[in-house]
Amino acid sequence: MIGAQRYRSHTCAGAAEALGESVRVSGWVHRRRDHGGVVFIDLRDRSGLLQLVFHPEAGEDVHRAAGALSPEDVVCVTGEVVARSAQTVNPALATGSVELRVEGLEMLSEADPLPFSVEDESQEASEELRLTYRYLDIRRPRRLRALEMRSRVASAMRRVLEDEGFLEVETPVLTRSTPEGARDFLVPARMQRGSWYALPQSPQLFKQLLMVGGIERYYQIVRCFRDEDLRADRQPEFTQLDVEASFVEPQDVQDLMERVLRGSFAAAGVEIATPFPRITHAEAVRRFGTDRPDMRFGMEILDWTGPASSSGFGVFEGAIGAGGVVRGLVVPGAGAAVSRKVGDELMEEARELGAKGLVWAAVEEGGALRSPVAKFLGSIAADLGAEPGDLIALVADAEPVAQAVLGTMRLRFAERNGLVPEGAWAPIWVVDFPLVEWHDGRWDSTHHPFTAPRPEDLDRLESEPGEVLSLAYDVVLNGLEIGGGSIRIHDRGVQERVFSLIGLSDEEAEAKFGFLLKALRLGAPPHGGIALGLDRIVMLLAGERSIRDVIAFPKTATGADPLTGAPAPVDALQLRELGVKPSGPPA
Ligand code: ASP
Repeated sequence: MIGAQRYRSHTCAGAAEALGESVRVSGWVHRRRDHGGVVFIDLRDRSGLLQLVFHPEAGEDVHRAAGALSPEDVVCVTGEVVARSAQTVNPALATGSVELRVEGLEMLSEADPLPFSVEDESQEASEELRLTYRYLDIRRPRRLRALEMRSRVASAMRRVLEDEGFLEVETPVLTRSTPEGARDFLVPARMQRGSWYALPQSPQLFKQLLMVGGIERYYQIVRCFRDEDLRADRQPEFTQLDVEASFVEPQDVQDLMERVLRGSFAAAGVEIATPFPRITHAEAVRRFGTDRPDMRFGMEILDWTGPASSSGFGVFEGAIGAGGVVRGLVVPGAGAAVSRKVGDELMEEARELGAKGLVWAAVEEGGALRSPVAKFLGSIAADLGAEPGDLIALVADAEPVAQAVLGTMRLRFAERNGLVPEGAWAPIWVVDFPLVEWHDGRWDSTHHPFTAPRPEDLDRLESEPGEVLSLAYDVVLNGLEIGGGSIRIHDRGVQERVFSLIGLSDEEAEAKFGFLLKALRLGAPPHGGIALGLDRIVMLLAGERSIRDVIAFPKTATGADPLTGAPAPVDALQLRELGVKPSGPPA
C-alpha cells in the first residue's frame, strides 16, 4: 500500500515502474480526452507524463470530478498501475506501456483559463506573453529540460573543480566599478550620500586579490552585471564560471578548462575531444575573418590580390592601388543557384556589412565562369581551387573590411547551403591576442588592463604597443566565444606601465586601482584564470538559439522583466532617503 506520503508515493515516471501497485501521484492536468464515458488525463510532473484512466465504475464522484478537470489544475490521485492493452501502448511516451486506473482524486488547486497552452508547445505565444507568465512557460517540457541541463552542467563544473582542490569563494555584489569595458549598474549608498556602489561586471579584481590572499585555487559560479544595449543576445545579468589559480601558465589554465568542459558536456550527453586545437588571433582573423572562428566547416578566406592586381578590372586595381586586398570565399555547390538577381542581392548584403560591393562567379560544368565580370577573372577557379558547381564570392577593400565582411558572409553561406554539420562540436583556443587595440584615438586593452603582456614583448610596451601580444586566451565553440581569460600582471611596475599605456594617469590609477597596486606589492604570486559563460554553454548544449531560453527569468531586449514589471518607479521617499533626485525620462 501507499506509504505515509501525503501527496505522492511515486513520481509520474516512477509509477511506470510500479506495475500492479497502488500508488499516489500528484501533478498538473496536461491534457484530457473523453472516450465514450471513459476519461483519459495525462498527468504531468517534473519527471514526465502518466496516463490516468477514469472508468465510470471508479465511483460517480471521482468520475464526475475527472470530467470537470481543466488544463493545469493540480490534483492528487490514487489508483492502481496497470498494463495498457497492446493496441493502446504509446511507444512515444516513456510511461506509455502503463496507465493509472484511478480510484481517488483530490483537487489541490484549480487553474483559471490559461493565457497560452502549456501542453501544446507548438502554439506560438509572443515572448512578452511567455515572459509575463514565465512560470507557465517553464512548465513546458522544453524549458524545463533546459533548466535541468543547466543544473547538471553547473554541478559537473563544480565537481571537476572541487576534485582538483578549487575552493568556491563568494565575492561582493556591492562593490566599486570594475573595468571590463561595459557600463556599470550603480546603487546609491544611503549611508554615504553621494557615493555609489557598482554591481560587478565580473569578480576580476577580487579573484586576483584572493590569489594574493593565498587561496591558490578559486572558482565561483557567479552573476555578473553589465549595463549594455541588449541588441545582441545579451542579458544585463548573466552567469559565469569564474576561475583563478596561482603559479600557473596559460597551458595549465587551458588544460584545466578542457577537463571542466569535457566533464560538464558529458553531463549533458555530449562528448568533446581534448586537447582542443589552438589558433593564434592573427591566424584566426586571416583565415576566418574573426577572432571566434566557427571550425565546424572549412571555407576559409582566400587571397586573390596578386592575380587581381593585373586583372584589368578597375574595381580590383583601384582597391589594391589604395592599399587594399582582394579576398574571397569558395562556397561548395552554391554556384548553380546564383542568378543575376541573387548575385545582386549578395552584393547588397556585402554593402550592408560595410564593403563597397561583392563580385561573384559561378563555376560551370567544364570550368567556364558565369559572372557579370567573368572576363576579368581569368584563372580564378584554379587559383582558388573552386570546382564546377561552386560559387566564388570576392570582396575588394581595405584588408580589415574585406576580412570582416567575408567572415560574416562565410557563416551565412554555410548556414544557407547546409554546410554546417548537424551535431558537430568544434571547440578551439584562440591565443596570442594583441595586448591593446587602437580605439578612438587611444590604446585600449583588448581584454582588460590586468592581462599580462608576453614577457618577450615587455620591452616594446611603450615603443610598439600595437605589436605587443598578451598571455590571453579565448575558448570558442561553434563560432561563439564561450570563455576568455589570461595570465595576469603580478608585478606592480608592469601594471603601472599598462595603466599609463591605456591613458590612466598615475593619480587616476591610484584612485581607481590603488588597492590592487598595493596588493601587488605585498607578495603577489604569478596567477591567471578564465571565465566561462554558463548561459551560452547551456544554450549550445540545449540546442537553443538564445540565452534567454536557458535562464529561468530573463529580461527582454529593453532590459525589462514583464513578470515583475522591473524596472519600476520607486517612492519619492525612498529616493529622498538615498539622496537621489528623480529625473524625468530623457527628452
Ligand atoms: N574577468 C574576465 C571577464 O569577465 C575573465 C577573466 O579574465 O578571467 O571577461
